[in-house]
Amino acid sequence: MSAYEQLLERFRDISRLGASLALLDWDQETYMPSGGVEGRAEQIALLSALMHEKLTSDETGALLERAEPGRSDAFGETNVREARRQYEREKKLPTDLVRRTAQASAVAKSAWAKARGKDDFAEFAPHLSTLIELKREAADLIGFEGERYDALMDEFEPGMTAAAIAPVFAELRTFTSDFLKSLEDAPRSPDDSILTRVYPIDVQARVSRRLAAALNFDFERGRCDESAHPFCTSIGGPGDVRITTRYLERFLSSSMFGTMHEVGHALYEQGLPREALFAPAGEAVSLGIHESQSRLWENLVGRSLAFWNHHYAALQQDFPEALGDVSLDAFYGAINAVKPSLIRVEADEVTYNLHIVLRFELERELLEGKLAVNDLPERWNESMREMLGVVPDCNANGCLQDIHWSMGAFGYFPTYALGNLYACQLFDAARAALGDLDEQISRGETQPLLNWLRENVHAHGKRYEAAELVERVTGKPLSMAPFATYVREKFGAVYGV
Ligand code: ZN
Repeated sequence: MSAYEQLLERFRDISRLGASLALLDWDQETYMPSGGVEGRAEQIALLSALMHEKLTSDETGALLERAEPGRSDAFGETNVREARRQYEREKKLPTDLVRRTAQASAVAKSAWAKARGKDDFAEFAPHLSTLIELKREAADLIGFEGERYDALMDEFEPGMTAAAIAPVFAELRTFTSDFLKSLEDAPRSPDDSILTRVYPIDVQARVSRRLAAALNFDFERGRCDESAHPFCTSIGGPGDVRITTRYLERFLSSSMFGTMHEVGHALYEQGLPREALFAPAGEAVSLGIHESQSRLWENLVGRSLAFWNHHYAALQQDFPEALGDVSLDAFYGAINAVKPSLIRVEADEVTYNLHIVLRFELERELLEGKLAVNDLPERWNESMREMLGVVPDCNANGCLQDIHWSMGAFGYFPTYALGNLYACQLFDAARAALGDLDEQISRGETQPLLNWLRENVHAHGKRYEAAELVERVTGKPLSMAPFATYVREKFGAVYGV
């Protein structure tokens, strides 16, 4: 075996360990009894340490020096480049720190779930402090040019920095508050209370599966379960991609759009290049690109009039009591009502990004020590009042709502807003290429759009960085303009402004 082939085999093994880790994690979030937390934390910490050791060993370093990909390997260069990037980043982190972080976050995750359930921030605070300490230590070891945040964000969005994001977010914030102001005197305002009627959970589960299938989710290569916080995970490659959803009897959107969102993630995972299976090049580009896929299917398709033109009659039959008297127009308005609210995952498309801008600011302050953990709830509530004009009634609906910080995932949130922007850029490009995209969606045909995404985004694996990929596919660098146009046209029509 050549050095390159040995290197690939090493990374395939690392990927196999990662898949085992993902399965442990999936189980913890879905079916594991709460008594399993401590044992699971130890298993996860051990596997994380083994992965880290294998990745950063001297053998990996030696193979990287000699690895020359064959010309016939279309992903050869990407494999070597990506392997080197991962090696160099991880090499800076001592195994002990990796193990301590994995263990602390597995315990913090369960403490967070309890604290949120009881609305008791004090129970979560010490765990959050520990994780912030560990992440500061990691960021300082990895190194950065701008601020600590960059070193952490690089794990989720390689190549992106806080300095590059800040002006885009500032523009996004101004645009959003201006647009919200323009809605204040709108002649029309949709009634979204119909979404909080009674929607039997067993029927919601059936509808979720049907919608997932309508978006081409492959149940032979994936499954859908329930969890408190919906997610998508790949258990080793495109052949086993799992999503979860959450059912609320009196809120249809949670499961319906939650499912379409996670299906978007899953379609990306199911479409990654088989030629680079388990190899470094065979993974998703970044979380921002990942989120562009979930938001595209959830919002640009799933909340479009075209989509419901085809699917609404069936939905009315599923929920005759809740939707029998609701016209398609009224339903379309309800699922697109714009209303500043407390919970990020249930926010409308217009105000959603403000939730991200808020988190982006607060977590940078937490990392830099400008904001103390104990002051977080108050600071959170102030920012909510300032940006969205609403104040949480409790911490469970405020700073305890997201799982991310309990996982030690600092620098993750911006990828959501980047995803929203990338989604609009990609959708515009798809429409230009496919011509009558809206008519296709109206006829229930989503395969051509998926094929286009497969070819232009999924099939590349990690060949390009996010910014480069988007520029190649759309002809333009990251821009807020397509999102702004989309918002003005769509919500302008819904509200008559
Ligand atoms: Zn997502």
